[in-house]
Amino acid sequence: MFTFLKALGKEIGSSRFEEDKVDLAKELLEKANEKGVEIVLPVDAIIAQKLEAGVEKKVVKIDDGIENGWMGLDIGPESIELFKDELNGAKTVVWNGPMGVFEIEDFATGTKEVAMMVADITEEGATTIIGGGDSAAAIELFGLERKVSHVSTGGGASLEFLEGKELPGIASIASKKKINSRKYILAGNWKMNKTNIEAAEFISKLTANIGKEKKFEVVIAPTFLALEKAVDLTTSTNIKVSAQNMYFEDSGAYTGEISADMLKAIGVEYVILGHSERRNIFGETDEIINKKIKKALEKGLTPIFCIGEKLEEREKDLTFNVIERQIKEGFNGLDKDEAKKMIIAYEPVWAIGTGKVATPEQAEEVHAYIRKLLSEIYDEETAESITILYGGSVKPNNYFGLFTKPNIDGGLVGGASLKESFIELADIMRDIIM
Ligand code: PEP
Repeated sequence: MFTFLKALGKEIGSSRFEEDKVDLAKELLEKANEKGVEIVLPVDAIIAQKLEAGVEKKVVKIDDGIENGWMGLDIGPESIELFKDELNGAKTVVWNGPMGVFEIEDFATGTKEVAMMVADITEEGATTIIGGGDSAAAIELFGLERKVSHVSTGGGASLEFLEGKELPGIASIASKKKINSRKYILAGNWKMNKTNIEAAEFISKLTANIGKEKKFEVVIAPTFLALEKAVDLTTSTNIKVSAQNMYFEDSGAYTGEISADMLKAIGVEYVILGHSERRNIFGETDEIINKKIKKALEKGLTPIFCIGEKLEEREKDLTFNVIERQIKEGFNGLDKDEAKKMIIAYEPVWAIGTGKVATPEQAEEVHAYIRKLLSEIYDEETAESITILYGGSVKPNNYFGLFTKPNIDGGLVGGASLKESFIELADIMRDIIM
């Protein structure tokens, strides 16, 4: 900013500026003037004699000039208000460059206030692009990187954007999700983890952080033993409880099994069926899973029906064949109304618990295929209404790309649902859904 102030003939003391860019700054100011474009520059600054924490600092008006030996290290309070006013109501903001030396807390206020304002207007619907390593570092330091539309460490890239070129990161903003008739879901499959006490402790954390979620449904699937406690602890929240399995018979001599009625009786609403671990470790067939699905629907439980190919099937190019078989067998005998009550989770077996996540493109390709298949079996309206989740090593660092895909309606999460990262995943979804 001091290069522009210098170009305007202001006294900037020992403030850093780019000597070789002063003429360019002059030219830009003239051009802006000719075209009636307003360039808003700071009107005051925080100055100090040394670039160090704890040194004496003062606020000066830019028009009064900065004396020699002093340098501008942050914008002043009037400038902060001025910039906030300018940002208020803006529809698109490209921010390239911090307001001061934010790395030192004494000079971080201007940058922080502007960053917070940028986050606020993003929440109100503005598209905000943070470009350049310094601005990206600042936004991260203030914990606001998820509260803006796009962060790029490439300052040059944001300039390319200004020239009208398409950047993939920004293009993905355009795919922010609208709330639609299809339900978005974040489901956590806890598998054989957490004792009752551990489950209760973690659920309290979840209810405090994401218990009031409205944009999408949060579902947790603890072990059978913790289900009743989970229902109790989530009763007055928006978190729903799922079982990880059930048997298809109503009652009788089925040692070790749990019925749909038993789950309903304690207030469970969802049940995961056909998980690859049930298929591959416990030998559940498509036929058994279909019977379970029918029983769950009959009793008013919502099945989260898992499908997915193994690695060798993908390598042999059999992914679509496997998916087709699993869908056709799983939905066998369901009418349109029953089909609409289903939730599908596409979980490539090679990505479950392995750390190998399907790329957003690989996942979207299969999700789109599933939807096409459903529209052939039923009709387009039915296919469009069914929520299809992705599962397989979902983590906060890979979820954005997956959830922004048009046919991915949320996640079924294993490992990352057992800790704080589940809350982070919810934060990501909330930011993406408009
Ligand atoms: C799962 O078991 O449903 C799952 C997706 O596990 P993970 O996220 O740990 O791969």
